[in-house]
Amino acid sequence: MPSARSTTESSVGDAPPTCAIIAIGRELLLGRTLDTNSHWLAGQLTMLGGKLERISVIDDQAATIIAELQAAWRRRTRFLFMTGGLGPTYDDATLIAVARAARRPLELNPEAFEHVRARYRHLHATGLLRSGRLTAPRKKMAIVPRGGVILANPVGTAPGVHLTRRGSHLFCLPGVPAELRAIFTESVLPLLRALLGAHAYHEAELDSGCNDETVLSGLIEPLRRRYPDIHLKTDATGFEAGGRLRIFLTAHGRDAATLRLRIGAARHNLLQALRRAGYAAAR
Ligand code: ATP
Repeated sequence: MPSARSTTESSVGDAPPTCAIIAIGRELLLGRTLDTNSHWLAGQLTMLGGKLERISVIDDQAATIIAELQAAWRRRTRFLFMTGGLGPTYDDATLIAVARAARRPLELNPEAFEHVRARYRHLHATGLLRSGRLTAPRKKMAIVPRGGVILANPVGTAPGVHLTRRGSHLFCLPGVPAELRAIFTESVLPLLRALLGAHAYHEAELDSGCNDETVLSGLIEPLRRRYPDIHLKTDATGFEAGGRLRIFLTAHGRDAATLRLRIGAARHNLLQALRRAGYAAAR
């Protein structure tokens, strides 16, 4: 992680928009697949100024997905990201669950249908598949909840879906990491920039020169009270000799320049407190 990351936009607006990620897949719960999609998405959303409130990893059962989705809607989460379960098989139940939760019928989407058809034609023509025919499992990937807007998948078969409901935006993205990243970068990012543009995020870190979290906690506490809008967190490690714990300062806000100044001031005060306590904190 770089020593300081921040959004570049100068911004005005309300509290940061809330985001949540729901990662779907039995393989994630079995410990077979590491949920790298959520990790990647979390970094993207934070840098856009969104406030990620929760990451859930859940089974691919429709009832489980519906319950999780409805809970997020009840919390009025503004931007919801689902990953996984868009494929052709019986356990790919994400869009069926979304349709039921939003009380919308499932229907064949002409744009998605064209995409799936072209994709299978191409896979057949290049000799990768024996048949390019649109069988029922293949057609399934073009059946989406009514009102869903298709997000083109430039590297795979199942397109993503964007659905708005009572002010909340739901993005259903594939589980395959390369497909998720491609759809997010090409289709979701420009939309989010437009919707989230008025929010900023900034972070900085500090090498404390101290290897004892219990000591740091006492030094950090007064700063927490003085800067309630800044999140201060030590990076825990073991007690190895010469160990130096890093301290991270992060904040969301309306204006990137103000955030930078405020975090800079908090960091400076923390540095001084560390030095007064006899630690060789690095500038
Ligand atoms: P497809 O359309 O290709 O079937 P899908 O949306 O149905 O994709 P899944 O079948 O759920 O996605 O998963 C496809 C692949 O992506 C699997 O190999 C799975 O292990 C991997 N995968 C799924 N979810 C994640 C995740 N959260 N992080 C990393 N890899 C994941």
